Amino acid sequence: MSEYKITVGIECHVQLNTKTKLFSGVDNDATDKEPNSCVSPVDYALPGMLPVLNKVAVEKAVRAGLAMNCKINLVSRFDRKHYYYPDLPKGYQISQMYQPIIGAGVVHLPDGSDVHIEHAHLEEDAAKSTHFGSYSLVDLNRAGTPLLEIVSMPDIHSAAQARVYCEELHRLMMYANVTNGDLYQGNMRFDVNVSVSKTDKLGTRTETKNLNSFRSVERLIEAETKRQISVLEKGGEIKQQTLGWDDATGKTTPQRGKENAQDYRYMPEPDVPPIVLEQSYVDKVASEMPKMPADYRSEFSVLNLDDSAVEAIVNYPVLANRLSEVCDKNVKLAPRVANWFASVLLAEENLDKDFSLATGAELAELSEMVEKKELSSTAAKEVLLEMYDHKNTSKTPHQLAKEMNLLQENDTDALSAIIDEVLAMPECAKAAEDVRNGEMKAIGFLVGQVMKKSQGKANPASVNELIRSKLS
Ligand code: MN
Repeated sequence: MSEYKITVGIECHVQLNTKTKLFSGVDNDATDKEPNSCVSPVDYALPGMLPVLNKVAVEKAVRAGLAMNCKINLVSRFDRKHYYYPDLPKGYQISQMYQPIIGAGVVHLPDGSDVHIEHAHLEEDAAKSTHFGSYSLVDLNRAGTPLLEIVSMPDIHSAAQARVYCEELHRLMMYANVTNGDLYQGNMRFDVNVSVSKTDKLGTRTETKNLNSFRSVERLIEAETKRQISVLEKGGEIKQQTLGWDDATGKTTPQRGKENAQDYRYMPEPDVPPIVLEQSYVDKVASEMPKMPADYRSEFSVLNLDDSAVEAIVNYPVLANRLSEVCDKNVKLAPRVANWFASVLLAEENLDKDFSLATGAELAELSEMVEKKELSSTAAKEVLLEMYDHKNTSKTPHQLAKEMNLLQENDTDALSAIIDEVLAMPECAKAAEDVRNGEMKAIGFLVGQVMKKSQGKANPASVNELIRSKLS
């Protein structure tokens, strides 16, 4: 049914990796902690408690906004969003409804398309309910974790594009260091609004909340557009409602009916003053931002790499940063380093996101050694593995190659002596004779013998050349 146009907008809740919660001083990281152990009176809403805004959460929000090319609003305010649920002890969530901290922006996707950001706002996370047969348990450790809710414009028109957007958002948040980014732990959760229409007028949308993998976002959109189209084709109507997604069955189920802003009785939060930022503060945060994936993509475009190699490298900020340093030193040395990253490091199992690696200067040196035929390409990969992840990072590539006995023999006198020995060997007489008679096929055998005698350290090209001159 290709005549239907699919329209998707995504809201993403990003848990900010601050040390403490949004409005209280207790630990924001409850990994491996007992339920209800990271909680203050603010988080369980004791009467008389007063929330105090976490400055670092504000800075992280600004960083996230800058990563998405957004306008940073110098004045923003908090509002109370009311609803009644056991995981919300105050009976309201402190959020930003009317004046969010982050204004409009745009995310450039690797496929060349753009998704505009409507706004992004700070709010507190709710607690976590776990449901058992006849009862439920509430863990308040998550109550008050700072969230940045990023609301996209309905600029997405396929399941695949939605996935690319979510992946890029994740990359941006990781580069900006505003979240730990562990999707399995719910550090980023996606609410997906989907509608289909045959005309320019948008169709009625459904919202599916709390998806926590890129793949489930993609699958949900595929399933939900199919469902909506089949309802419409049968002459039915799409109801505006909230759906639940079941990853196991790949199906949606209705959860609740239409809800609008007035249902939440939004009102200004009286206990938290407005956030007022100076432009100089925003400028300072901007000056501390690292390069972003889009910067690296355009920088690496001159290297003539496969898109897939570029994307694989950009997924790892350390690799992107080092490759960029190599480009700065000598762009001619960079493609080789990029290929090593793609073929050697990224092939390592369980590559950690923040491994350490030799400096760009050292990587450039390693690449240059291959250029100058001091090291074979295979040997260079061995050296690279030594320079990765804290192993021997204090030694230069040359020192390492020497210690590992990998330096190629380019000393013509030494090589010449080895070649003479080889040519004198009885088993080489026939091959030598053939080469003398112009049958150059035989030279491979002789080069192989020299390589063997030099324990692989001879440079094959030089050996070849020397043998030719000796036998001409
Ligand atoms: Mn929200």
